[in-house]
Amino acid sequence: MRKPRRPQDFLEYEKVLGFKSKERQVENLKLEGDVRVALIVPNDYIVASSGLAFYYVQKLLNQHPRIRCERFFYDESFSKYYSLETQTPLDEFPIWLFSVSFENDLLNLLDLLKKKGIPLLWKDREEHHPLVVAGGAVTYLNTEFLLPVADAVYYGELEKHLEEFSEALTGEKKEDILKALAEIPSMNVPSLGKKHSEIATGVIVDEFLPHAHIVSDAGVFLGKLLVELGRGCIRRCAFCIFGKNLKPARFVRPDRFESLVEEIPWKEYGLISATITDYPWLNELLDVVERHQLKISVSSLRLDRLSERLLKVLKESGQRSFTIAPEAGSQKIRDILKKDITDEQIEIALKMARNVGFDRIKMYFIYGLEEETEEDLRAFRKIGELALQMGYREVHMSFNPLIPKPGTDFEERRMEPVDVLREKEKFLKEYLKGFRVDFESIRESVIQYTIARASREEIVEWVKSFENKKRFRKMIFNEGRKRLC
Ligand code: SF4
Repeated sequence: MRKPRRPQDFLEYEKVLGFKSKERQVENLKLEGDVRVALIVPNDYIVASSGLAFYYVQKLLNQHPRIRCERFFYDESFSKYYSLETQTPLDEFPIWLFSVSFENDLLNLLDLLKKKGIPLLWKDREEHHPLVVAGGAVTYLNTEFLLPVADAVYYGELEKHLEEFSEALTGEKKEDILKALAEIPSMNVPSLGKKHSEIATGVIVDEFLPHAHIVSDAGVFLGKLLVELGRGCIRRCAFCIFGKNLKPARFVRPDRFESLVEEIPWKEYGLISATITDYPWLNELLDVVERHQLKISVSSLRLDRLSERLLKVLKESGQRSFTIAPEAGSQKIRDILKKDITDEQIEIALKMARNVGFDRIKMYFIYGLEEETEEDLRAFRKIGELALQMGYREVHMSFNPLIPKPGTDFEERRMEPVDVLREKEKFLKEYLKGFRVDFESIRESVIQYTIARASREEIVEWVKSFENKKRFRKMIFNEGRKRLC
């Protein structure tokens, strides 16, 4: 364990140790290689530790005998950045691998580079600077925004070209590494003019059985070991990338999951899948859960495929609130979103969860479609009232503005203008008085939309003016706002 040399670094060091103390390692991981790779999730510890990539990518890379990968997360107050594993400062790692899940993570990534004195654009970096490689969930959207910043960007599922990718990282010089990375079809290496020819997908998840080796008591899946039981989605909601770009939907068989449960001395699991209710062997999976007396949480449920048995298991696992995503209040908007869910199915789902004892419900909704009328907005309340009539004592409605993303059916659409969204938000807040209601920030959503749509040239121009995160955020928002008028 390394200790800071400068007194001002102690606060940061202790914060990292504080999060480290919330982690329990349930599977061994070797940290022996001579090639040091920093896996950085450019978001805070809570967000980072709630995603499987924070653990799984480390595990995948450390399979290579020469690679020693350690984890980092972003914190606005940090300047030194210590690894979670050995508290080694980030500067000592020659390869920085960013796992980017959200467009807005770009701001944190730039802030981190700036604070470490690393030029923000790859073309301004030299041999002595760390090699910046990016990948992650955001690359399924096939966006351009990482290309001016990272030396190389991996698009899609890492397992598909894991061996070549890991081997490439062991190159002597930066140039050797980039040349080797450029051989990978899903890799974009802008300095060599190499474009990616695919978004890597189709990995057989049943073979890899993606799971974490660490349990964190700080993330969304508090105390649960994360296991990815499904990748991709059999649905095709118009606003979502999963059904379109992450094909085909693939699943881990229940007996594979059971073998993991028998191997690892852990009883609580966070099951990750686009929708666990579409899992093809749900009853067999629940048999495993009951046989081994496991507690489970799930990442999401489709309300039209709920089973009472699953809901009971979730309730017995300690889940206090029932969460679903009807997305829209009216059938008309739900049809435009291609959500494929009816009013009747919503009613059945609410009843079923109430019958097994849930009395708190959280529902996710999307608003801000050009076709939306006042009647459609009023329809949100009907669902909330239905839940109250059934005896739910807490009805939580969570709203997100529609952010039409590239790669989805809505890629030709524009986000609604900021003033229109603000009016709709105001109307809903007033109209839904009595319910617990929250709204995703319109500002952050516009930033997300603007970054997702930005061309490489635009990103270069914007990044050149980066002074600090606050100003950059303001600039991107103003830029996006103008475009939406
Ligand atoms: S919104 Fe959910 S159900 Fe629809 S495509 Fe995306 S992951 Fe699948």
